[in-house]
Amino acid sequence: MDDNQSRTAVIEDGRTPSTRTVDVLVVGAGFAGLYAVYKFRQLGFTVRAFEAGEAIGGTWYWNRYPGARCDVPSLEYSYSFSPELEQEWEWSEFFPAQDEIERYLNYVADRFDLRRDVQLCTTVVGMSFDECAKTWHVDTDLDDKWEARFVVMATGCLSVPVVPKLEGMSSFEGKVIQTSRWPSDVDLDGARIALVGTGSSGVQITPELAQIAKHLYVFQRSAAFSWPSKNAPMDPAIQAAVKQQYRDVRLAQRSSPGGVSGFGGVPILDVPRPDKRILAASENELLDALDEYGFGACRVWDDVASDPQANERAVELYRQMVHRVVTNTDTAESLSPRGYPIGCKRPVLDNGYFQAFNRDNVTLIDLRLEPIERVTKAGIQTSARHIEIDVLVLATGFDAMTGALTRVDIRGPNGQKLRDELREGCIALLGLQFSGYPNLFTITGPGSPSVLSNMVPGIEHHIEWISECLVYLRERGLKSIESTATAQNEWAEEVQRAAIGTMYVADTCNSWYLGANIPGKKRVFLPYIGGFGRYVTVCQEVVDGGYAGFRTS
Ligand code: FAD
Ligand code: NAP
Repeated sequence: MDDNQSRTAVIEDGRTPSTRTVDVLVVGAGFAGLYAVYKFRQLGFTVRAFEAGEAIGGTWYWNRYPGARCDVPSLEYSYSFSPELEQEWEWSEFFPAQDEIERYLNYVADRFDLRRDVQLCTTVVGMSFDECAKTWHVDTDLDDKWEARFVVMATGCLSVPVVPKLEGMSSFEGKVIQTSRWPSDVDLDGARIALVGTGSSGVQITPELAQIAKHLYVFQRSAAFSWPSKNAPMDPAIQAAVKQQYRDVRLAQRSSPGGVSGFGGVPILDVPRPDKRILAASENELLDALDEYGFGACRVWDDVASDPQANERAVELYRQMVHRVVTNTDTAESLSPRGYPIGCKRPVLDNGYFQAFNRDNVTLIDLRLEPIERVTKAGIQTSARHIEIDVLVLATGFDAMTGALTRVDIRGPNGQKLRDELREGCIALLGLQFSGYPNLFTITGPGSPSVLSNMVPGIEHHIEWISECLVYLRERGLKSIESTATAQNEWAEEVQRAAIGTMYVADTCNSWYLGANIPGKKRVFLPYIGGFGRYVTVCQEVVDGGYAGFRTS
């Protein structure tokens, strides 16, 4: 393997002057891509990262909508690879806002001199594997040609937005803005705003838009389960204590189910561990729980996660809490989730979401009662009325986990297309590698805990696993590694098996974890729910077994 600078191959006809070569080509420059550049470079590999955006940061560059915020404590949602970095960086809040995380990632890029190996404004559009040379040929939208022995797709689980096909949208004369492509220079003060979507992004942006809009209309298809975040300014004593024991914190993260040690502060819900059965509880006990724990009252029972009847009783408790907070009865009823269980979709943490609907300038439009007929020049026509607006905000989600992979034309040695296999619900071995695509790795790919856990430790773990693998190959003079079809199929079965009995795969559950938000996407539970700690152990066992389930040559 070359420890070289980029090589320039002059092509005879002189039209396309360059095919450049690196050991590892990384796609994406968010948390994953940046750490990949650091790690592979540190191990002596030449590396180049391509990022479609105009700046680094990934999620935290694109999603700069008002209210965008992390729901994992900052002290835990951070890199562990540099003890110096851990000590230097000071977090200002328990749950950091988008701008603070973006600043952090820019600090990291400068601190470790990463920018020189990151090429911005460049989208990787296709790649094909040359079996003889054991090399990927990679094309970008700039007509650049690159060759790399290894490609690492650090393309993100939630990086490809879904734009709904609303009739008449192109005729709208106002602004259309997606939360996941929020411009840095937009001023919405005093505007009449329609917001479509009430998942995590919609819930976060609602109270912020409510404060600046002349009027905010929230168009809701499904009511969300959301809990107050109880965010607060960082307690310096907790920050200092965590910094003192960061090695223990990081170890605890890697053996925990969700990649969170619990040392990072802010007990999210302030509720005791579930230890009672809701189906055995009296009406008085339920009311006491509501009085004591508010929205958290539905989470103190241990039968809710597995028993649909218990779950429905907990949902009813949740609805009662919505009615306690939201003063207009019809609005409260519409904001009360129905038709799917708690624990099916990703839980949302909010900062005053339900309270926002008590303002005079906020109106909920329940699309179950009043569907959108079309977008007009000046607003939105529902089945009941025409609503004039200046701005349409779309918080309508992502083609999650596989969207960024299917957007690239990835072809294996026989010309087969990865996007065709993903359409069939293909899951990568350990979420790291697809059979038939040697030397191509996915960070937090389908089949890994990824979106079900704190993603930063998950990302670091993947990059470290891949780095160790590349060093293993280099030391043995091996040129390629590929997961076997048998091992991949077995893992895919394990991923589905692990989800059985959970609300994530209940008959009434339609979530992006299952691809249900994308028409035509096969219904497959994409992340591994067996727990991050257990997953780390399985990955280590594979390494200890000489990369069991992988073929090297
Ligand atoms: P990303 O940050 O998504 O970066 C991927 C990058 O790859 C993007 O910049 C994209 O432009 C680029 N890219 C994709 N395809 C190509 C291509 N073909 N060519 C070139 N570039 C390409 N996770 C948590 O654990 N806790 C949270 O609280 C949390 N909050 C979130 C809030 C929001 C609004 C969103 C959208 C996600 C959140 N997540 C959260 C998940 C978050 O995506 C991860 O935590 C993490 O930031 C992912 O980092 P990444 O580098 O893997 O991917
Ligand atoms: P999402 O959870 O998929 O929510 C999308 C919303 O848009 C849903 O309410 C959906 O309704 C609605 N929608 C989609 N198409 C629609 C249409 N045609 N008409 C009307 N409504 C439509 O997407 P998201 O809110 O961007 O969040 C995605 C994930 O990103 C989260 O689950 C989380 O992992 C991450 N995230 C985290 C945070 C955080 O707090 N840290 C913040 C933002 C995002 P249905 O439910 O009916 O489909």
